[in-house]
Amino acid sequence: MRAPTPIRFISTRGQAPAVRFDEALLQGLAPDGGLYVPERIPRLPATVWQQAASFSDMAADVLARWLQGVFSEETVARVTTEALSFPVPLVSLGEDLYILELFHGPTLSFKDFGARTMARFAREVLRRLDERLLVLVATSGDTGSAVADGFAGLERVQVGLLYPYGQVSPVQERQLIVQRPGVHAFAVHGTFDDCQRLVKAAFADPDFARVRLSSANSINVGRLLPQMLYYIWAVAVGAFDEVVFCVPSGNLGNLTGGVLAALSGLPVRRFIAAHNANDFFPRFLAGEGPAFGPSRRTLSNAMDVGAPSNFERLQALLGDAMPARIWGTSISDETTLATIRHVYETTGYLPDPHTAVGLAAARCYREATGDRTPLVVLATAHPAKFPEVIRQALEFEPEAPEALARLWQQEVSVVHVEADLEALKARLLPYVATGT
Ligand SMILES: *Cc1c(COP(=O)(O)O)cnc(C)c1O
Repeated sequence: MRAPTPIRFISTRGQAPAVRFDEALLQGLAPDGGLYVPERIPRLPATVWQQAASFSDMAADVLARWLQGVFSEETVARVTTEALSFPVPLVSLGEDLYILELFHGPTLSFKDFGARTMARFAREVLRRLDERLLVLVATSGDTGSAVADGFAGLERVQVGLLYPYGQVSPVQERQLIVQRPGVHAFAVHGTFDDCQRLVKAAFADPDFARVRLSSANSINVGRLLPQMLYYIWAVAVGAFDEVVFCVPSGNLGNLTGGVLAALSGLPVRRFIAAHNANDFFPRFLAGEGPAFGPSRRTLSNAMDVGAPSNFERLQALLGDAMPARIWGTSISDETTLATIRHVYETTGYLPDPHTAVGLAAARCYREATGDRTPLVVLATAHPAKFPEVIRQALEFEPEAPEALARLWQQEVSVVHVEADLEALKARLLPYVATGT
């Protein structure tokens, strides 16, 4: 039997060699500064969503088709079973409007899907190469905790988390600093930009050369591919013939996952890109041409992105078809609060601020287009992660689910450092040396 030819990944900038998934996973960015996109996209038969038995079986089936010749079916199934063993409910709000809850993973945001899966594929690759990995992340919120949780306790992997001290919410900070094996949290006395600068400087520093470094950021193919899976699951559970997906968006990684699912055959009529005041992408779709701006702070802070990194990838995948496949809009903080209130009071459903941006955008879409196709809004985070915003909208705070409530009983571990590379090295390199 001939071994299947692996799908290769090519750079959006066309100046780097094509690589396999495992290589793209460890590299992150392509050497020419571009983002990896698949050279070809496997066609999924409709039986994948028509006969899906469980999320993790469906996930293993889909990813095995993408990763043929790179990982065995057994390896893929082991990864998806370990990584994606939480529920993914589809909730009906009536009038063919649905919410797909992506916040039942350990850190209560959709980023658990990508981070947990990527971490386990990375472990498989490191075993093969007999190497170790240091994941360094600058974070101001959801990404850091998802990455820390995803990689914690995996053999051959250590994580360094850098966050700006005093500039993340109490819940977010707690999620970053709870003790996890192999994870080291650093409260940097500086801004988020300082944290990013430190990570960049570490990547260029010879003292870090003896360990492989990864930033596990949202452009990594290891985080991208798992983000196709819940779109497929929604069609499976809802038994939709055709569907519109509304995606609360920042860096456009989540949306890109959906586009990959659609390009592989999932019957998606259209995507809605729901943005907050960071409105570069809706403006681009409206024909205003690319003009990245500085990021603006909003109540849906995980989407405060002025220059979405996955834009380049969407362009490579869709080209001129982008405005036909994606409808976009920008939602103000005022409308976000009003939507939390309105949806809660009329349906009893409590959306987090990011999901509320999605719900508001979904309503705009239906008003603007008259399209009555079943519409699924992705719920990207649990409302209890944002008690301050919910209080602002409704004058009460949401009940914390078990996973959050438990945080306050757990041990924490955090090292305070100045925003200075030598200070960080003095505290981080000893861990790297001992591999703990
Ligand atoms: C990261 C994040 C988003 C934005 O996702 P992108 O892939 O960056 O577009 C939306 N909502 C929440 C809660 C997030 O954490």
